[in-house]
Amino acid sequence: MKAYRDLSPSPRTIMTPGPVEVDPRVLRAMSFPILGQFDPEFTALMNETMEMLRQLFKTDNEWAFPVDGTSRSGIEAVLVGLIEPGDKVLVPIYGRFGHLLTEIARRCGAEVVTLEKEWGYTFGTEEIVSAIREHQPKLVAIVHGETSTGRMQSLEGIGQACREADALFVVDAVATIGGIEVATDRLLIDAVIGGTQKCLSVPAGMAPITYNKRAEAKLQSRKRIERGLLLADGEDDPLLRPIQSNYLDLSQLQDYWSPARLNHHTEATSMLYALREGLRLVLEEGLEARFARHREHEGALIAGLEAMGLRLYGDPSCKMTVVTCIEIPAGIDGESVRSMLLDHYGIEIASSFGPLKGKIWRVGTMGYSCSKRNVLLTLGALEAVLLRHGHTLEAGKALQAAMDAYAM
Ligand SMILES: *Cc1c(COP(=O)(O)O)cnc(C)c1O
Repeated sequence: MKAYRDLSPSPRTIMTPGPVEVDPRVLRAMSFPILGQFDPEFTALMNETMEMLRQLFKTDNEWAFPVDGTSRSGIEAVLVGLIEPGDKVLVPIYGRFGHLLTEIARRCGAEVVTLEKEWGYTFGTEEIVSAIREHQPKLVAIVHGETSTGRMQSLEGIGQACREADALFVVDAVATIGGIEVATDRLLIDAVIGGTQKCLSVPAGMAPITYNKRAEAKLQSRKRIERGLLLADGEDDPLLRPIQSNYLDLSQLQDYWSPARLNHHTEATSMLYALREGLRLVLEEGLEARFARHREHEGALIAGLEAMGLRLYGDPSCKMTVVTCIEIPAGIDGESVRSMLLDHYGIEIASSFGPLKGKIWRVGTMGYSCSKRNVLLTLGALEAVLLRHGHTLEAGKALQAAMDAYAM
């Protein structure tokens, strides 16, 4: 019989835009005993998680809970619930994840109108607002932080334009939640999707979402209760256009997260423990302090990279603090640099997709990975590896610049 060796993943310094390193407290939380899904101890943990999610999303929405599955499951749950076949949907695209929103919206049967921006830039508010006025969509979906390009879209003024057009406003804040402010209520966002494995520093496997009464009204209008759970054998309304997904049907999922505790699928117990502990860590640190920490380490990283003579990619005025994109210098094999960093230093940085493949590296400074130690180690290792690849640079300057930024 084949003997499989003990699991012993190598310690890594993960400087990608996710998944990132996880606080030991979160890992420990995942090892606690399982509770049944209607156990009052468990439902109390669910309620606390909802309370903490409301603070994270800066919302008074009743509904703030995780969907089981990675962030994409949250996006899909929101879109499949809020889009009826034939609905017009507007998606401004400025990177890979805007294309994902388009793809999912099309599968929901939407007639999708897209606006496209050259990668590395974001939209001016006016461009989006005038497209809303022109096309009068039923729903507008946009990415807050595009990890593919390291850009962040300003969301100011879009929510107001959506209200005027009676459109729902949906935001993919998967990469920003927990690292950069997501002001759900102030920005009049109707539904927001967050991610766990990025700035929240919890393993991948859940998608925290929140939505307001406007979004809920749409879900309720399409609601179908499972036959096995109905008291009387009701017939479906022939005009009902039910949500196409059963697993991702938010109108049913919210019943399990409500006092009714109407069963849907089995909750991912250990992931909920992880998310709850991750949220506790975020709130203990304080949202504003946490955002400031992300800015501080980004500043030191940029100072070091620039002192190495490297050029940052993209429009600096819309740079995301938690992802830094670097132009791969001419003549350097970007993938060879990445493997040397991983093999010799245990440090992982990311490449990119589509038009940027082979052109940029992406360094994440997210959550638990966003620390002075990690930034300094990454700069030192990158300098050594670039020298090893024959790149000319002034050795030693990067770390001194980063240390100056930290004022050590
Ligand atoms: C990572 C990411 C996603 C997808 O998340 P998964 O957890 O891989 O499903 C979606 N949107 C953005 C902006 C992301 O950065």
